[in-house]
Amino acid sequence: MSSDCIFCKIAGGQLETELVYEDSEIVAFKDINPQAPVHLLIIPRRHVPSLLDLQEDDADLAGRLLLTANRLARTFKIDQSGYRVLTNCGKDAGQAVSHLHLHLLGGRPLLQTMG
Ligand code: AMP
Ligand code: ZN
Repeated sequence: MSSDCIFCKIAGGQLETELVYEDSEIVAFKDINPQAPVHLLIIPRRHVPSLLDLQEDDADLAGRLLLTANRLARTFKIDQSGYRVLTNCGKDAGQAVSHLHLHLLGGRPLLQTMG
């Protein structure tokens, strides 16, 4: 837990946020500023600053984060229409919150952009 990290506070229950998924390692919730009809954030409970900070030992966690995206795509019924999973890592990607999070976006055609 990083004491001034907003996503640690959400994962730890100190900041009231409706969770759409949780297990012992992962929580997911709706993005506060949604960019699509479905815009969820999927995070590890543990404070990992960014994708770059994942280590070999975290391979299982990395896989579970992706599988949680699949699970939520089904739950939110965007599995057939399609969806996007992305993570911003570092300054040039515009990472605003320094706690690893996957964005899950769907529910409308998404722009075909790589940047
Ligand atoms: P990124 O630019 O990838 O770091 O994205 C950070 C995301 O976190 C943005 O899409 C924000 O809208 C979202 N966000 C920031 N604070 C909260 C919060 N308290 N609850 C839900 N989403 C948040
Ligand atoms: Zn954190």
